[in-house]
This record gives sequence, C-alpha cells and structure tokens, in this order.
Amino acid sequence: MRIVLLGAPGSGKGTQSQRLVKAYGIPQISTGDLLREAVAKGTELGLRAKAAMDAGKLVDDATVLGMIRERIGKSDAATGFILDGFPRNIPQAEALEKMLASLGTPLQAVVLMNLDLGILFKRLTGRRICQECGQVFNIYTSPPPEGKHKLTQRPDDKEEVIGKRLEVYEAQTKPLIKYYEAAGLLRSVDADADVDTVFKSIERAVSQ
Ligand code: AMP
Repeated sequence: MRIVLLGAPGSGKGTQSQRLVKAYGIPQISTGDLLREAVAKGTELGLRAKAAMDAGKLVDDATVLGMIRERIGKSDAATGFILDGFPRNIPQAEALEKMLASLGTPLQAVVLMNLDLGILFKRLTGRRICQECGQVFNIYTSPPPEGKHKLTQRPDDKEEVIGKRLEVYEAQTKPLIKYYEAAGLLRSVDADADVDTVFKSIERAVSQ
C-alpha cells in the first residue's frame, strides 16, 4: 500500500498512520517527525529547519525532498508506506510523482481527513505528548491517566503558532485536494469521529 494522508494539522494523520502501520506492516513516513528528530539531534538540517518550524511555516522544499528521497529509498519502504504531512504543496507533490514514477511505484490513494476548523484548533491547543513513551493525548478529549506520563507540548502547538500553521495549510496545502482529485487518487473521509471509526473509513477508502 502506498498512500498519502492529507489533512490540516490536528486532523489525526499521525494517530491514523500509527494504526495503519500496525495493521499493514508498512512504515509511516512523517516529515514532521523526521524534522523534529533532526532538530532534537542538532544536525545541520535540523538547525536550518528549526526557525521555519517554530514560526509555523513550511521548511524549504529542497530540504524536505532530500529527506523523503532518502527515507523512501530504505528497504522497509519497498513494500509500501504511509506519507504523513508530505506533500504539503504542489511542487512537493510534483516532485513526489516524478520520484515514484522513476521507481515504478506510483501512489495508490490520497486520503483526505476532513475536519472543521474549530475542532482542529481545540485538538491542537489540547495536544500533549509523553516525553518518555511518545503517546499522544489531548487534555480536553483524551486526557492521560493521572501521574503516569511526562507531558510536553510541541512548541508549534502554542496558540500563537497554530493560526499560522492553519493559514499555511489553507494557502499551500489545500490546493493538493484539487490536484489529487484531478489525478483520480483522492478519497475523502470524515475525521470528526473516534479513532476506530475513522480508521475503518480509511480502510474502506483505500480499498475502493
Ligand atoms: P507536522 O508534524 O506535520 O505538523 O509538521 C511540523 C512542522 O514541520 C510544519 O509546521 C513545518 O514547519 C514542518 N514540515 C513538516 N512537513 C513538511 C513538509 N512536507 N514541507 C515543509 N515543511 C514541513
């Protein structure tokens, strides 16, 4: 299975990717995770990307495409992958298409996670991640059991950055909906439901 999960920040791409990884045994390729890892390690790429990430803007295409090329080339991605948070604009989508065409492994589906803007805002402001186990919680909708986790908030989930990220989504990422619709790859799911229900919708959507 080679799919893209497309949707605004907070639409549940990461959570659903993890479910898909378990069910299908293919890797999740999240450019956000790869970038955060590089920032945490203090690599040159991480240092370059940090300012854009902290401001809620996109990291430059060359950096992101280099990372994707390397990750898709790894052996665990040979049988398929879930792209999460990539592509984020038309040039990235075009580059991906070329990359996959040259490998003879085109995308099979692009799943759009549909969610209301108000709900997105709440999901993002409430999101907390356990520093130790990586589990994701929401202080409003799925709070962690008391005292068991060491919670942190992503710097770009702070209220002042969220507005910018949603703006970037509207301006740069949303045009991908039409792009993939025209390619006959787009499948839309209602992302405003519990994790299991959304997961079932995705499974139905990709088997169409
Ligand atoms: P995410 O975890 O997908 O919400 O990504 C967090 C941040 O990483 C974004 O706000 C961007 O600054 C950066 N980022 C992630 N994926 C991309 C991408 N495909 N292109 C450019 N920047 C990205």
